[in-house]
Amino acid sequence: MTQNTIAAISTPLGPGGIGIVRISGPNAFAILKKLFVRDKQKIGPIGKLAIERALNSHVVYYGHLIDPENGIILDEVLAIYMKAPKSFTREDVVEFHSHSGFVVLDRILSVVVNNGAVLSGPGEFTKRAFLNGRIDLTQAEAVIDLINAPCETAVQLASCQVAGGLRDVIQGVSDSITTLVASCEAGIEFSEESEIDQESYLRNIQKTMRQTIFPEISLLIQRQKDTAIFKEGLLLAIAGAPNVGKSSLLNRLVERETAIVSEVPGTTRDVVREYFSINGVPVIICDTAGIHDTNDPVERIGIKKARDHFNQADLVILVLEATREVNGFEKKLAEELGRSKTIAVINKDDLAEDDMVLSIQKQIDGVPHIRVSAKTGTGIVDLKRLIFKDLLSDKNITSRERITPNLRQRKILEKVLKELEQCVIAVETVQSLEVVSGMLNDVLRLLDEVSGNRNKEELYDHIFSQFCIGK
Ligand code: GDP
Repeated sequence: MTQNTIAAISTPLGPGGIGIVRISGPNAFAILKKLFVRDKQKIGPIGKLAIERALNSHVVYYGHLIDPENGIILDEVLAIYMKAPKSFTREDVVEFHSHSGFVVLDRILSVVVNNGAVLSGPGEFTKRAFLNGRIDLTQAEAVIDLINAPCETAVQLASCQVAGGLRDVIQGVSDSITTLVASCEAGIEFSEESEIDQESYLRNIQKTMRQTIFPEISLLIQRQKDTAIFKEGLLLAIAGAPNVGKSSLLNRLVERETAIVSEVPGTTRDVVREYFSINGVPVIICDTAGIHDTNDPVERIGIKKARDHFNQADLVILVLEATREVNGFEKKLAEELGRSKTIAVINKDDLAEDDMVLSIQKQIDGVPHIRVSAKTGTGIVDLKRLIFKDLLSDKNITSRERITPNLRQRKILEKVLKELEQCVIAVETVQSLEVVSGMLNDVLRLLDEVSGNRNKEELYDHIFSQFCIGK
């Protein structure tokens, strides 16, 4: 299918133990034979002095790479040749494992390109694996997710899809729908002659859709929602009046000094963003400007930005002071934020009087709360536990639950579900096997977009452009 031979540095650039130049395409083996020498004695001033022993597929060879133009040794390497179709791209693939370092790898790549390859674009190796039918689109996209996985759970989820978890489920759903289409056709063909009338065919179709296909697709959609947090991270915003200790709390949570802590109210005017993780789950935390009534135009912009962040956040930590009553503004803010995605942190517990804390707890009745001291660190571990209790409890993902679509795939599955709902309505109202069969065929075409039917160039260019070069 593909005629040219591509090459790229497949490891991250920069000093390191090993770097890999990967080549894929019909010239890969010829390039290997021209550049690679197993016996150093056979290198002369103008390249190789003698033809060497044959190289076998899927064997690692030790030797040297030379520039055939001038016989200069480029590096001491390990070379692997993977004969098509037993390779990642299903084409002839060659890998040179050299010392890393940009200059070494760049020299090797230049010589490879001078001898019959072209530079690969982002994701081109994976795109070829897909176009050559080695993997489907769900697997190709999972490779991106695996490379970008920010935590252990995200790795497990991506690995499951790389291994074909989602592909198999989508295939199963497609097979069930294909069977329904076949049953429509059979119904159209035979209902006149046989005892079974069209209505019983329609009833069976409806039953299968309701009992098998709907739940399967709904489950996939729900899983994407439940697990998105592991890929994208939990977005946490810190809210509160000026000087209650928001920046100090952020520094405590991320365990380093990031935000400016100051006794002067209004110090954090812009949004400070930091990253940390709890139990391997990535958390993006934003410290926002103190929320209060102000005429200062700069502060007002900061407060507007803060409110935008609260709306986007998965969870808002509302910081209160243990040393004073909750003021009207804070009460209003607690109500605005709503109970379901708010945790109230009663800070400065080191200065607290129990009676005052009791009074605060009464005023924020219903909002989950916890006492902490950002200054001494007491209560921080419990706060982390509380943050994750609601959002991540029972998220010990079983192997079956790892079968999860990504956002693009979920959007298609949502459309599939809608079309199937229309189809069920048609079964009840139109009661025509021809109509139902046509609708089911549309659903099959839509499902094809999840796994990729290999002729949607634009979509694939978009997906593969998200890869790094060399993958
Ligand atoms: P922000 O304006 O809400 O971000 O508040 P900061 O984090 O800048 O803190 C304001 C002041 O409160 C600083 O002087 C902090 O040292 C102090 N502070 C913050 N947390 C605590 C705490 O838990 N206990 C005590 N005693 N002081 C605190």
